[in-house]
Amino acid sequence: MKTIDEVEEQTTGEGVPSHEQKTLSRRMFVEAAALAGAGLVTATAMAQSRQESQAGRQGDSPSDPGPENTVLLRENPSANTPPFTDHGNPAPIWYSFDLTAKRMQGGGWTHQVTERELPQSKEIAGVNMRLTAGSFRELHWHLADEWAIMLSGKARISIMQPDGKMFIDDIGVGDLWYFPAGFPHSIQGLEGDGCEFLLVFNQGNFSEDDTFLLSEFLAHTPPEVVQKNMGWSRQEWDQLPPTELYIFASQLPGPLEDDRRFLGKYLETNNKYTFKASSMAPTTKTAGGEVRIIDSTNFLVAQNIASAIVTIKPGGMREMHWHPNVSEWQYWIKGKGRMTVVLTGGKARTMDFNANDVGYVPAMAGHYVENTGTEDIVFLEMFKTSHYQDVSLNQWIARMPDKMAQAHLKLPVSTIRRAPQDKEILLPE
Ligand code: MN
Ligand code: MN
Repeated sequence: MKTIDEVEEQTTGEGVPSHEQKTLSRRMFVEAAALAGAGLVTATAMAQSRQESQAGRQGDSPSDPGPENTVLLRENPSANTPPFTDHGNPAPIWYSFDLTAKRMQGGGWTHQVTERELPQSKEIAGVNMRLTAGSFRELHWHLADEWAIMLSGKARISIMQPDGKMFIDDIGVGDLWYFPAGFPHSIQGLEGDGCEFLLVFNQGNFSEDDTFLLSEFLAHTPPEVVQKNMGWSRQEWDQLPPTELYIFASQLPGPLEDDRRFLGKYLETNNKYTFKASSMAPTTKTAGGEVRIIDSTNFLVAQNIASAIVTIKPGGMREMHWHPNVSEWQYWIKGKGRMTVVLTGGKARTMDFNANDVGYVPAMAGHYVENTGTEDIVFLEMFKTSHYQDVSLNQWIARMPDKMAQAHLKLPVSTIRRAPQDKEILLPE
């Protein structure tokens, strides 16, 4: 059995390493970590627990002769056989839109992942919606702010400010919109195949079934009051929708320019409620992938929801980090990856993620996201905050004076300094 000191001896060296040395020593570091992982290096406090955890993965111990949902387990091998570093039983960090109640209507459908599905998610809820060509999500407003990304197709959106000016725009795949709470708005699928999009709300218990609707405001106001307010007779009031429309089929709109011309001086042009993220240059780009960070600094109206659109190449990873301000709610657009969330008390959970899944990271909890598939991962990191923030573990270690770092990590300084010396967001550098 090798001790930590013996492993140290193998990796001692001084000075700033060359790139080749870095690559080589990183491999050695990984090997040393694997030795430690295999229980060959005894680290005092965790020794027993690690050995038990290893034993549970050897021989006949992991066998499962009883019933299994093999389809689900194939999607999520980390749930079947968690890495030995997982510990305890943290609350769920995974859910999928493909398990939710789906409301289907003429013109489209909707389903949601909220605090009801992920009980820890008090800050963010998400809705996935489809509108066929010409179909509307009925004119409405709600308590939460709404951030959205187009997943497929095109839509026309409109939003009216309290000052009576209306913003109207067409939006395509990868582009965003943002509707502040209480501002009335519309979404309509456009020509071709309509659209499908993801909505994100800064309220964990948000529900798409609890929004203020144009139809209901009118249907539940006494007709004589509507007559005083609008001048519409009782007979005309009777023709209004008696119940909600919610999602419904309709005619395609005319050209955007016609709608803008109709608005004339009431067209809002200062505040931009859409953001063309599909043509945005990456905020950071490395060999491992790229990140686009969009918050109130570049999407000015997005005052309460910040986002990172992350692409990770096969073999790459979103580095170990945490967010010092809020929890993270993820939506997986494509690819296959895994994430471990490390909480207080040594609790840790690893899950695998696929397209249409939702990930959740409690505020401040350490995590990484690794591409375990053969194609790029694209996922969203969503936060209930005006400004995106993260803390990089590598950057923190790099800033620790030698003695401080060595005292905590029990590794030689030369080994410690082989790690990336700055925040990379995506690895490899
Ligand atoms: Mn809405
Ligand atoms: Mn994160």
